[in-house]
Amino acid sequence: MRKIHLIIVHCSATRCNKPFPVTSLIACHQERFGFTGYHYYITRDGQVYQTRHEQLVGAHAKHYNEHSIGICYEGGLNEKGEETDTRTPEQKTSLWHLIRSLKVDYPDAYILGHCELPGVTKSCPCFIASEEYATLQPPRQNDLLI
Ligand SMILES: [Zn+2]
Repeated sequence: MRKIHLIIVHCSATRCNKPFPVTSLIACHQERFGFTGYHYYITRDGQVYQTRHEQLVGAHAKHYNEHSIGICYEGGLNEKGEETDTRTPEQKTSLWHLIRSLKVDYPDAYILGHCELPGVTKSCPCFIASEEYATLQPPRQNDLLI
């Protein structure tokens, strides 16, 4: 079993008014990495797609891929292309349920947004995931980041 220390939340950095279906994500990542870098993708309608086996290392967070699961929601940019939390209520609900179920398998994993990792300058996923999912965090914070 791969050791999972982190559950990392991302956005696709696409405009909320421009659909970016899972097929586009897969095609885009196939070209970049040869496989889909995220383990899960959640479209604006709240549909959850598993895009990579959890036991396989992803490609979504430099230096942190080996022991993490990557989840991406469709959006993250508003109509003008500005970084914004564009999650729909359906996406928020699906994210919550997905993370809660992952925590059953990986109870010690710490949940955070891409932008909360050291050295990351972008705002992805445009909200503070570690705070939003505070009640799902392990009792002792993962010390990997310190
Ligand atoms: Zn990201």
